[in-house]
Amino acid sequence: MQCQKCGLEIETGEERDLHGRTLCEDCYMDALSPVKTCDPWAVHSAKRLEQMGAGDQFTELQAKILAILKKNDGVRPDILCRELSITPEELEREFASLRHMEKARAEKVGDQIILRLW
Ligand SMILES: [Zn+2]
Repeated sequence: MQCQKCGLEIETGEERDLHGRTLCEDCYMDALSPVKTCDPWAVHSAKRLEQMGAGDQFTELQAKILAILKKNDGVRPDILCRELSITPEELEREFASLRHMEKARAEKVGDQIILRLW
């Protein structure tokens, strides 16, 4: 018995039938779930939609940043990066959106930048 899609040899009893085609387990699963989980964009937009559907205006990362800012009154960016294991660039990008939404702000204290809630 051969898979009619990839041509792989299928052991008796392991074959799957889909619309009259004999498929191996892998091809069968593939055919049933056209959205490949290895496609980061598909996963990403699905997540985005999920969040929008739930009425959540923040990304997961932004929510985490806000949670930390809420817990501590003023956090240094490098500490935030370490706590969330993200790069300064990632933090900057997320923080820019938060600042734009007037949820968080950066403040200069002495020669230090401190991030806190708006
Ligand atoms: Zn196959």
